[in-house]
Amino acid sequence: MAARANLIAALLALVVLALPFSGVIPAYWVTLFNYIGIASLVAIGLVLLTGVGGMTSFGQAAFVGLAAYTTAVLTVQFGVSPWLSLPVSLAVTALGALLVGAVTVRLSGHFLPLGTLAWGVALFYLFGNLSWLGAHDGMSGIPPLRIGGHALTDGRQFFVLVWLAVVLAVVVAQNLLGARAGRALRALRRSAHAAEAFGIDIAGAKLRIFIFAAMLAGLAGWLYAHFQRSVAPGPFGVNAGIEYLLMAVVGGAGRVYGAILGATGITFLRDQVQDLLPVLVGSAGNYEIVVFGAVLVLALQTAPNGLWPILFGPPAPAKIPARRGVAKLAPRARPERGSRLLEVDRVRKNFGGLVAVNDVGFEVRAGEIVGLIGPNGAGKSTTFNLICGALDIDQGAIRFRGESIAGAAPQRIAARGLGRTFQHADIVADMSVLENVALGAHLRGQAGMVRAMLRLDRDEEARLLGEAARQLERVGLSADAHKPAGSLALGQLRLVEVARALCLDPVLVLMDEPAAGLRHGEKKALASLLRELRADGVGVLLVEHDMDFVMSLADRLVVLDFGTRIAEGVPATVRRDPRVLEAYLGGVA
Ligand code: ADP
Ligand code: MG
Repeated sequence: MAARANLIAALLALVVLALPFSGVIPAYWVTLFNYIGIASLVAIGLVLLTGVGGMTSFGQAAFVGLAAYTTAVLTVQFGVSPWLSLPVSLAVTALGALLVGAVTVRLSGHFLPLGTLAWGVALFYLFGNLSWLGAHDGMSGIPPLRIGGHALTDGRQFFVLVWLAVVLAVVVAQNLLGARAGRALRALRRSAHAAEAFGIDIAGAKLRIFIFAAMLAGLAGWLYAHFQRSVAPGPFGVNAGIEYLLMAVVGGAGRVYGAILGATGITFLRDQVQDLLPVLVGSAGNYEIVVFGAVLVLALQTAPNGLWPILFGPPAPAKIPARRGVAKLAPRARPERGSRLLEVDRVRKNFGGLVAVNDVGFEVRAGEIVGLIGPNGAGKSTTFNLICGALDIDQGAIRFRGESIAGAAPQRIAARGLGRTFQHADIVADMSVLENVALGAHLRGQAGMVRAMLRLDRDEEARLLGEAARQLERVGLSADAHKPAGSLALGQLRLVEVARALCLDPVLVLMDEPAAGLRHGEKKALASLLRELRADGVGVLLVEHDMDFVMSLADRLVVLDFGTRIAEGVPATVRRDPRVLEAYLGGVA
């Protein structure tokens, strides 16, 4: 299926690349499509950055300009060959993105959009004011690109080059999105808590995709400079930055082909508006931006996910790459059965004046199921999040496999072998069930963005997705592997979360109400899975509301009430404890 789609796309690309030479397309259109191709490169970067990664940038035009000016200076003032100036221009853009990204990407909320806006404005004025860059007039006399002594001065030849670059960018972006690094990227915005719980370096992933998007803009800038043969500040201002963003959003934020659709639509629109507006409202004033603003608002209102999904439907889910003879992922060395895995020692957590967890202590050993129970609001989920590193403790100590983990990032705790589920399923709805589960195996792979883009990660991908498929089978969801996770019922999502946690190959699993919303049969299956884990020597900490479920499973119970531990022991004893009965029945007993 995917192979056929690729073949069709390749054939289509060939036809498109040959079109300008057929003679039926006027030169004006060829030129327009050259600009569309150049803009598509920028928009593809923005789809990855904004649509997938959830980071908004108004500064992409500045990156286009940075590369265009770099190659202009190198080729005009220093006589460097354009092909040699390409890697330099890309490196300069990457460096610019590294500097801008390093200060803004870690910050949340509006800092990145504002930071990129400031960057866009600053660079625009820099281009316009430096005399050695030609100030407002810019620079001309940029040499054309040459292939084997032949200058690419014909728009049709340039068309082939530009659209080859677009095809390349599409392939590379699609490769990325389908692989380990891409799954991490897709989880950043939609499932940030799960992303950190499974070891994804969030700030690093954001910075890397910011740099990659800037480099695509840089490639566009280099092409632009040698197509236009001159540069001036105008096309690299914030107006252009907004236009690029518009292309990515209108076409289909999150969909790579949507970038091309958006670039085509917006470039045509600008072309029409430039012809039409002077006739309608006179030539004074800059009305284009008003029209674009209206288009953006309208697009966001009517098609928040862009036009691509409306026209062409949801994305095809990923399949397991069939690979023969690929070994399984190597299992983790297990601690000895009965050894102490987790020690929670007089841990306290305050929320303002509320003591949500009040000097709570207990331990979990390898090959043991411990139930953490208590009425609603007792502090179970808070305790849970303190252990995972999602919340910081105020007092006390937590040791995991003998090492203090108080204050450690969730990523580090995960790397030591702690897998968790969330009380409120935290999954990426538009990613397939299988891909969501594979996110749990993130730390068991290494391939980064570059290897993913070049498809040098196929063996590792087969191992990761193979592991995900095995864990899905264990929870009985194999039949749903290729459905979008968002289409599953709540109870099934809990099982997806269990499978994802198991993909980490945990020595300790923390589960927050995994049986909630499950049917009777599913509960029984989950219970036998938990027993199986215990038999394998895995430690399980189970927060659960369903008393029958937890009583039948747990080796020991810890009971919380109003943040305080009121009882601990084997289920048979705890169930008769008067304080427990009172907590649960509100004193009626
Ligand atoms: P449980 O999981 O046992 O139902 P929680 O741990 O979720 O209980 O909550 C314990 C108490 O802490 C409750 O009173 C809850 O309202 C409060 N609480 C939980 N999270 C927060 C938070 N982020 N900010 C303020 N109060 C919180
Ligand atoms: Mg809870």
